[in-house]
Parts: sequence; C-alpha cells; structure tokens
Amino acid sequence: MAKINLLQPHVADLIAAGEVVERPGSVVKELLENSIDAGARNVTLEIRDGGMTYIRVTDDGFGMTPEDAGIAFTRHATSKLKSERDLEAIGTLGFRGEALAAIAAVSRIEMMTRERGAPDGIRIVLEAGDILEMGPWGCPEGTTIIVRDLFYNTPARLKFMKSDKAEGSNCVFAALCCALGRPEVSLRCIKDGKEEFFSPGDGRMDSCIYSLLGRDMAANMLECHSSDGAVSVRGYVSLPHAGRGNRSAQYFFCNGRYIKSKTLQAALEQAYKNSMMTGRFPCCVLYIEMSFAAVDVNVHPTKREVKFSGEKRVFDAVYYAALSALSSDGNTAEIRLSGSTQAVLGQKSSDFRGHSPVSKPGAPAQQAGKAPPPRAEESPFRAPLREEERGYQISIPIPRKEPSEQALAGPLTPEKQERALPPESGEKPFGDGFRIVGEVLNTYIIVEQGDALTLIDKHAAHERIIFDSLKAQPGELMSQGLILPATFSPGAEDMELLFENGELLAQLGFEIEPYGEDTVVIRAVPADTDGDPVPTLEEILEKLRAGRAGDASGLRDRLLQTIACKAAIKAGRRSEPAELESLAGRVMSGEVKYCPHGRPVAVTLTRKELDREFKRI
Ligand code: ADP
Ligand code: MG
Repeated sequence: MAKINLLQPHVADLIAAGEVVERPGSVVKELLENSIDAGARNVTLEIRDGGMTYIRVTDDGFGMTPEDAGIAFTRHATSKLKSERDLEAIGTLGFRGEALAAIAAVSRIEMMTRERGAPDGIRIVLEAGDILEMGPWGCPEGTTIIVRDLFYNTPARLKFMKSDKAEGSNCVFAALCCALGRPEVSLRCIKDGKEEFFSPGDGRMDSCIYSLLGRDMAANMLECHSSDGAVSVRGYVSLPHAGRGNRSAQYFFCNGRYIKSKTLQAALEQAYKNSMMTGRFPCCVLYIEMSFAAVDVNVHPTKREVKFSGEKRVFDAVYYAALSALSSDGNTAEIRLSGSTQAVLGQKSSDFRGHSPVSKPGAPAQQAGKAPPPRAEESPFRAPLREEERGYQISIPIPRKEPSEQALAGPLTPEKQERALPPESGEKPFGDGFRIVGEVLNTYIIVEQGDALTLIDKHAAHERIIFDSLKAQPGELMSQGLILPATFSPGAEDMELLFENGELLAQLGFEIEPYGEDTVVIRAVPADTDGDPVPTLEEILEKLRAGRAGDASGLRDRLLQTIACKAAIKAGRRSEPAELESLAGRVMSGEVKYCPHGRPVAVTLTRKELDREFKRI
C-alpha cells in the first residue's frame, strides 16, 4: 500500500497552480478520481441540492491507514508522487496532493476509511480544514467521504454558484466522464434520492457507453481502433448522419483521464470531412493510450488539458481510427418509421460487416452476431497494416477510389453504361442480388434486395459519385470545351474575385476569359459536368467570397462539392432506366453512402419493420 508523504516544497512548486475546487462538480471529480486511483471496483456517488449541501462518495478501494487518514487533508499530501522525477510519467489520475486539502478548507467533511485487511477503520471529522474528531470506527474496507455545506465559510464563492439544478447537472456530467473513462469500474450516481445512472463495470466499452449515453447514441455509433505502436486509439464514433449541433458529445480519454483537446477534436472532425453537414459535429467516445511519459498532465490545475509530446502522432491515431470506421462497409444510413420506437433500421446493421453497434449491457454478444468487443484491460490491436507510407496501422482498409469512367460521365446513357461494364463479366453488372422496382416522385429509386427495400436519393447518390471522382484527380481537373461558350456578367466585385482566383478555377477545369468590361466568357468546364455552367460559377463565386471572409480551409473541396452538385442529375426530373440502374448498382455495392454534405443517399426498410408497421407482427 502506498504511503502518503508530504511533497517537498520544490516538488510542490512544480505543480500547475490554480483553483481545484471551483464548484461542486470539481469536488465530485476529485473524489471519484481518488476512488479510481485507490483501485476501487464499485463506487457510489450521492449528491443533494446540486452538491451544495451533500456529496458522498463510497468506494471499495484499498482504503487508508489511520496515520494516512490523519494527513490526507494536509496540503501537498499525496501517496502518488515523491520526487520531481515522478512528475515526468504520471500514471494516476491525482498527483498534486491538493484536492482533499482544498475541499476540506471550504466545507464540513466526514471520512470513514478502512484499509484492506485491517481489523478496524477510522473516522475523521473536519470543519474548514480543522480536525474536530478522529477515532476508530467500524466500517467496510474502502473509503467513504461526505462533503457537506460546500463554501459555507466563503460567502463570496457561494455567490458564484449557479442554481442547484445547474450545479447538479455539472456534478452528474463530471461523474459521467469518470465512469465513461473507466469501463472496468462500476459507478452508481444518485441525485436527490434518484438514480441518475449506473455503469456496470464489466470492462466493456460498449456496455459502458450504452448505460451512460443511452440507447439512441449507442445505436448510432461505429466501433473503431488504430495503433501505430506508440499511440493506440479505440472506442466508438458516430455515424455521419447522427452528428450533433455542438461538440458536447465528444468524449476523449487519454490514459483513462477525460480530457479536452483541440488537436483531437480537429483530428476527429477531419475524418468526417465531406460526409457531415456544415455546422454538425461528430460524437465519439475514444480511449487514447500512450506511455505516461509521452503526455504531460501537469499543465492545467484541473488536469483537463494535457500536452502531447508527439502531437502529430496523436492526431493521426485519432484521424485514422475514425476514418477507418467510417469507410467500413456497414456504415449505412438509418431511418426511423414514424411513431415506432423499435424500428430503428440501423439495428439491422448488426449483421453488417464492420458496423458493430453498441450493445445493451448484459446482452450476450452472440445476439448481435459478432464477437464481443475487447475488454478494456485487453490490448485489442492486432490490426493489419494499411497506409504503410505513413507508417500507420488501421484496422479496416480505407477503400481507395479510382476515378471511374462512370463517375466522370455524368448521367449515364445506355452506350456509356455499356462501356462501363466490367469486361470479364458477361452478366448485367448491377442486377444481381437486387431488383429495381422503379422510380417515385422523380426523385427516389426503389430497390428490393433480400428481405428489405431501399430508397435511393438519385441526386445525392450521383453527386457523391461525381464528387469522389473529382476528388480522386489530384492536380488539375480534366477540362471539356463548350461547343457554345457561355457568357456571364458577374458584377464588379465578383469579376475581381474571378480573376483573383483564376488559377484555382483553371485547376478545376474552367476556362474563363474577359469579354468586354463586365462580362466573361466560359469556354470550358470540368470534364463531364454537363448542364448550364453559369449557376455553377455563381455558386462558386459565393464560396470564394466566404473563403475570402476567412474560412479558406477546405475551399477546394467545397468548390468540388458545388461542381458535383450542379453536375448531378436533378431530383424532380425523370431519369433514364439505365441511369437509375447504374446509380442503384453503385449504392447497393456500398460504394456510396453519404452525399458530400453528409446527407444519406439511401435508407433501408426491412420486411420486419414493414410488418411491424402494418401490425402483422
Ligand atoms: P492526490 O490525489 O493528488 O494524491 P488528494 O488530496 O486527492 O491528492 O488525496 C491525498 C491522498 O489521500 C491520496 O494521495 C491518497 O493516498 C489518499 N486518498 C484520497 N482519497 C482516497 C480514497 N478514496 N481511497 C484511498 N486513499 C485515498
Ligand atoms: Mg486526488
């Protein structure tokens, strides 16, 4: 058992200074972290009145000796750090030896603790940091700390507290982050007599996520992992259509610690580029593991921010973990039938390859037709090598899309389609396994396959195919001359913008020349993008204006999106059967899943769901 020491002043001075206890949620976080550091497997948190009058944490950890209990509330008293060398590789959540002292100074505390294997425990009562009572106590092994009347002796601090409701939610959030970070620890959280959540502590990430974040979120997540040997990532990321309006559901854990990191955020979001609508954010629960020495947790008093020594590596690890999951076959759209809570089509995706939705705690893994996800304590990364040129491993190969003739060809004519047939196959290319029932509303293609029917948004699907193919051309896009050049009068400001971006537009396949004072003539457009080039150029100008206003990152992609969108066959207009067949083939093969703005291109209804809607079952 580790002994508590007082840190020598020169070590204490090295610790990031600052306020540890700002609000009840900080107390909750510190106490729970102490329980986890004490090796607890079962922890109960109870709060009342937003944590302002009562916070209790009970754990079955290794407890404290009477001697340690006596000094635990002294400043810089810790069993987790001895010398400054230890600061270089911190493996525990706490290390500052400040939390208990800081909490005790502003509250009334009662602590009962019994060291594992010891015959007796001890109880200690403090008020504003002073010990009032201390003596032997009969209690179970482990530790219970009750914090009452937080900030009772610091009225100025009390004034900064929000409503009990807001503070209570913050406490629950702090607890949730601790629980989510440690699937092997069972945490019960009770607020004002009501259970807020219970994590089973079975070591499984999936059941932990299910019980803490709920069924809906769990059903929309994809399992992912990556490893480059030094940094490993595992966890779950959301399907692109299940993004949120903010980043509140992005949970990152570094060596078991919940952290906030702009780098990780950016890495995650980069993986969703072109598959998520602007203004939407992916959700994730990602566990990042690396050597303790590669991450500095001593940069922020609450330890929520950390510094990575290999920032780029960590970025890549998260990026490739998310990307590989998103590129896997099973990643498909779901829809919910109105009024039916059970008909989440994504659930069918449990039989999809690659998509392992988060399962209900306690549900046998076989039920989902898959091997159970790895236990938290196991190291699951035996991923095949991909992206070798970057020295990186990801678990699921990222499909490399070759620029395809069809994609470039715009709406397919029967002749064009014939050219697109794989030469070795004498069969109809897209016919096997599915049947095109027809087109409805001049917008959706209906396809029957096995026991399910799929509705395909023809515009969205075509847009994606063109976009992927444009994107696959690394440098200058192929250009196609217009038989009848088009003229366009953009106005003075836009005229300037056009010429400022002349090079970029040329790279995209446009050939534009001035024609008098305020007019340009468009002589060529990106290859195989049929239709009127003027609306395309107008929208491109709009994006260039936005780019000028500061948002220049990803400009080329956004311009490609515009080109793809304008070139794609339109909803509302009838299409040739050959076009429909070609698009359906690409979608049903799993090649196309989301339009470049993140909308799903297809939704599927199973027989079971239909039967349920018609009350057949
Ligand atoms: P730190 O966690 O940074 O070491 P704290 O002030 O939070 O500092 O705790 C001081 C010490 O008290 C810890 O180092 C640990 O030895 C002991 N301690 C605190 N909480 C517990 C607990 N729940 N079970 C066992 N020991 C604990
Ligand atoms: Mg601590």
